[in-house]
Order: sequence, then C-alpha cells, then structure tokens
Amino acid sequence: MTLSRQQPIATMRCDRAWVEISLAALAHNIRQLKHLLSSRTQLMAVVKADAYGHGAVMVAETVLQAGASWLGVATVPEGIELREAGITAPILILGATHTPEQIKAIAHWQLQPTLCNFKQALVFAETLTAMQSEVLPVHLKLDTGMSRLGPPWQQAVEFVQLIARLPNLKIASIYSHLATAESPDQTILRQQQRNFEQAIAQIKDAKLPFQNEQTQPALHLANSAATLTAQDLHYDMVRVGLAMYGLYPAWHLSPIDLKPVMQVKARITQVKTIPAGTGVSYGHKFMSDRPIQLAVVGIGYADGVPRNLSNQMTVLLRGQRVPQIGAITMDQLMLDVSAIADVQEGEVVTLLGEDGTEKISADDWATQLNTISWEILCSFKHRLPRVAIAEVRG
Ligand SMILES: *Cc1c(COP(=O)(O)O)cnc(C)c1O
Repeated sequence: MTLSRQQPIATMRCDRAWVEISLAALAHNIRQLKHLLSSRTQLMAVVKADAYGHGAVMVAETVLQAGASWLGVATVPEGIELREAGITAPILILGATHTPEQIKAIAHWQLQPTLCNFKQALVFAETLTAMQSEVLPVHLKLDTGMSRLGPPWQQAVEFVQLIARLPNLKIASIYSHLATAESPDQTILRQQQRNFEQAIAQIKDAKLPFQNEQTQPALHLANSAATLTAQDLHYDMVRVGLAMYGLYPAWHLSPIDLKPVMQVKARITQVKTIPAGTGVSYGHKFMSDRPIQLAVVGIGYADGVPRNLSNQMTVLLRGQRVPQIGAITMDQLMLDVSAIADVQEGEVVTLLGEDGTEKISADDWATQLNTISWEILCSFKHRLPRVAIAEVRG
C-alpha cells in the first residue's frame, strides 16, 4: 500500500485544535481606535510576534484596509515576512538592529529601523555608504523612563547632532516608550511625557544643520494604554498592539468598545465513563469521587495551553462551563462532562472565546496565572492553524 496525503492540509485545519481569528472584530477595533484620534494622528498597528499570535500577514492586510497606515514589528525577519506577502505599507522595526547583514536586509526590503545608540548609528552610516544605498529613513528612540532602548533623553541633542551629520540617513521620527501607561496613577506617565517634550524642545532650540534634506520628524509616544488615556499623548502617531486585538490594557481604560479577535477551540476525541476512585492523567492529580463522564480533548501544553491551569480551568461546551480534570498533557487534556447529556466525539470545545452567553477571555487566564493578557495571546504555538472567520461576536 502506498501512503498518500488523501486530504489537503487546508481541510484538516479544524480537525483537532485551532485558533480562530475574527477579521471583522479586528477591523471593528481599528475603526473604534480611529474614532479616538484627531485627523493629524496616524495609527501604527503593532504586528510583532506574529501579530501577538494572531498571524501577522492576515492581520496586517486587514488593519491596513481598516485604516491603519503603519506597521510595527520587532525584528528584520518579521518585516521581511510582510514584504514577501506583498505588503507595501511603511514598516518600523521597533527592536534594535546592529549587524551589516541586518542593515543590508533593511535597505533591500525598504524597512525602517530604530536607531537607539551612537555606535549603532555609525555602523548604519558605514554600511549604507559601502552599499551606495539611497537615503534611509530612520527613527530615533529616546529613553524617557522605560530604561529599555535608546539613549537617555538628556542626550537627545547630541544624538540627533550625530545622526544629522551622517550620510544616507534621514530622521523620519523621534519616539519614546511608556513604562506605566496602564496604571490609574499618571505620575510617571506624565513625567515621561515632560521628558519627551523637553528633549524635543532642546532639539528644536539647537537648530542643528542636517546633512540630508529633512522634513519635520514625526513624534510618537503612545502604546494602547496611552492611546485610550488621552488625546494629548497621541502626537503624530500612536503605536497600538493589545487594544487592536480586542483586549483592554486595564479595566479603567475602556472608553471604546473592543471585541476580542482570537478564540481557541479544539475537538473532543474520546468520551467514556470512569468509575468512582479512578485517577486521571499523569500523577493522578485528579481522583474521581463518583462515576464521571470523561471527555478527552486534542489540545495540550505543546499547543500553548498553560500546564499550570491543570485542574483549575473550565472550558465551554454547548454554551456551558465544564471543568478540566487532571494534569494537562503535551497534546491532550481531559474534561468532566458529566453535567452535559450525551456528549459526542467530534464536538468542539472553546478554551478561549465565547459560546452562547458564556465567555472566557485572555484576561481570565492572565489573572489565574498571575501574568498579563499580552503573554497569553503570544503563547499559542504554530501547531495550531490560524483560521480566519468573517463574523463579529459580542
Ligand atoms: C509592543 C510595543 C507597542 C505596543 O504595545 P501595546 O501595549 O500592546 O499597545 C508599542 N510600542 C513599542 C515600542 C512596543 O514595543
């Protein structure tokens, strides 16, 4: 007998477990966010880390159509993936890039780098000169209080002075990143804003001579939380990640209606009754105290379901919550479905998302696991196909 792949992969996508992406919810969220922005402010959709696990190319195509005009990625390969898919919108690499190989790829694929230190700026100028490259738009990152990338804001004039003198570079924007925009207490946020404005004022006052013809650099500071906080934080562009995926950075920041874009679903692969006193899964961490109708589901920690939720999570089946029992294993987990009549193999359970009136969100998991919803969204592995759906929920 010869083995052949009878079924194309595409039709097997929802056979076991998958991530559902509502492109309609995504477009809705972009339109909602645009309502908050004045006409001078552009929307950069942050699609780093495979669009927070949602699938970078399909997310990028959808948000550009819905009104975003820039894309933000973390790395050069993430930018190249979008270009290879035919996306022509401007792409800012938010992370640091250093090597001549990275710089060549940036120039070749027309990506736009973040410059965040003096030495790196010199390597860019040298490499671009050696390549006889055209003038490359670059984005200067200042550290106003995050203590991550960028020179301290007090060195802003010196930094701009250096870059202004270098050939082949043109300053497209000057930006910074906020450390505490999710907090109801705005003290640190406003201090960072004052630092940013002071740095910008000092650069203006210095009246630096620019080597290349220079238009006014754009200014940007806001992430999702700051975008939802106040318009005076928006400047020329906002860089939105989490909110566009339909989650609120904090409960007090909900001036608009956002809809979660991602749902995680899997199928029941076996149903059976176990008697009272039966251990379930590795380590027998669950013992039945009565006969139980047990369902096995084809999703596990290798797909991104956190093992720390073992015996602590519920999933949705036919619009009802059912408890997960025993240790979550690499590829499978078990449920107690005794409360639901006549459960069938092949039925779909919802791990994250909505079913009827019930709902489980990334925020629920984040609270249970003492982490943040950003990490939950990014945790689903590539073994789960991303399946786009058209409908909007909620
Ligand atoms: C990831 C990132 C963002 C987006 O942050 P959210 O809180 O998800 O909106 C914005 N700016 C920079 C520099 C980032 O790295």
